[in-house]
Amino acid sequence: MKNDHRSIVRRNPAPQSVTRSVVGPLYPSVVYAAQDADELDACYAREASGYTYAREGHPNASVLADKIAWLEGAEMGVITASGMAAASALLLGKLRKGDHLVAGSQLYGRTQRILREDLPRLGFDVDLVDTSRVENVQRALKSNTRMILLEVISNPTLRVAEVDRIGDLANDQGITFAVDNTFTTPLSFKPLEWKADIVVHSVTKLMAGHSDVTLGALCGNAAQLESISEAVATWGLNASPFDCWLAERGINTLELRLTRAQDNARALAEFLGTLPGIKTVIYPGLPSHPDHALAQRLLGENFGNMLSFELEGARPEVNRFIRALRHVPFAPTLGDVSTTISHPCSSSHRGLSPEQRQELGIAEGLIRVSVGIEEADQLKREFGEALHSTFSDPRQVQD
Ligand SMILES: *Cc1c(COP(=O)(O)O)cnc(C)c1O
Repeated sequence: MKNDHRSIVRRNPAPQSVTRSVVGPLYPSVVYAAQDADELDACYAREASGYTYAREGHPNASVLADKIAWLEGAEMGVITASGMAAASALLLGKLRKGDHLVAGSQLYGRTQRILREDLPRLGFDVDLVDTSRVENVQRALKSNTRMILLEVISNPTLRVAEVDRIGDLANDQGITFAVDNTFTTPLSFKPLEWKADIVVHSVTKLMAGHSDVTLGALCGNAAQLESISEAVATWGLNASPFDCWLAERGINTLELRLTRAQDNARALAEFLGTLPGIKTVIYPGLPSHPDHALAQRLLGENFGNMLSFELEGARPEVNRFIRALRHVPFAPTLGDVSTTISHPCSSSHRGLSPEQRQELGIAEGLIRVSVGIEEADQLKREFGEALHSTFSDPRQVQD
C-alpha cells in the first residue's frame, strides 16, 4: 500500500455505533468547519445554530450554561474561565464610563480589588457598603447608580445580605441588581426569584465541587446577558471545554454533596461551640448569629456548608491548630468534597490593615471552615483532637 503523506494529518472519525454514549462528549475543537461562506455567515449572525470558534462558544460551555441556568430558573447562562472572569464580564458588559456602582464591603477579596482599585482607575465611581442592612445601600445611591452587586453570604464572617429589600429597592429605581450566589448555590437560594437581574457564580467552588476546575457563570434573561456574552468573547474570558465537561459531571452530585456538607456544618458548629479554646462560632444557622432571622427568611433551613470560629490566642495558637489537624488541609478554597480550612488574616484578607480587619470582625484567631462530605463524627473528632493539642503543653505536641 502506498503511503499518502497527508493521511497522518487527517483526523480519524469516531467508529460507528448503533448504541450511543450516555456521557456527553468532550469537544476540545477550537474551530468548526462550515459548508460554505453563507453557512458560516449565518452562524456568526446567530441565524443558524452552529459553532464557529471556541472563544465565541463551544458545545461543552453550552451544556454547562444550560444546566446552571436551569438550576437558577434563568432564561440563559454564560460560562467563563473563572468566577473572577464572570465578575469582569459583568462589569465590562454592563457599565459605562461615569457609572456609579454600589457593592458589598465584604465581597470576595479579588472582587473587592477590582472595585476598590481597578474600576476607579478606569473612571468608575464605586461605594462599598455593609449590605446586611438595606438602609446602607439606600444611603449610597446616586443619580448615576447603575448597578448593585452583593454576595448572599459574605466571607469569612458569614454576614447575610438583605437581598429581598435590596432587590425591591433596585427594582423601584431601575438599577441592575447582580447577586453572587457562590456560597449559597441555586439549591439554597435563587436570586432571580428575589428580583435579581443577573446571578454570578464561581463554579470552581460548590457547583463543580472537587477542586479540579476553575470556572465561572452568569445567569439571567437574554436581553441582560447579550452584552455580557459579547464581553466574554471579545475580552477572551471564555472557559476551557474540559473544565466545562468536568463541572457538568460535578453538578450531578451537587444536591447530595451540599445536603451532606450542610448537615455536617451544622453539627460541627454546634460541637465547636461546646469546646474550650474557642471564643465564638459563626454560622448563620445558630441563633447567636447576628443575621440568623434574615438567613431564615431568605434560606429557610439551608444555612450552607461554611462556618468560621475564633480561637483563643493569636498566630502561635493558629499555627499549632493548623498543624494538629491530620486530615483537613489548610488550603484557601471552599466547596470541595473534603473539609478545608483557611485563615483570613494570612490569606484572603492579608491586604487589609489591622484596623480594617477589626472593623470587619476578622481577628487573628479567626479560622474559616469549608465543611465537606466526610462522616460527621470523624470531623468532630478531628477538630476536637486538634483543639486539645493546640492548648496542651506545646512541647508535647508531635507532628
Ligand atoms: C472564589 C470566589 C470568587 C472567584 O472565583 P474564582 O473561580 O476563584 O475566580 C468570586 N466570588 C466568590 C464569592 C468566591 O468565593
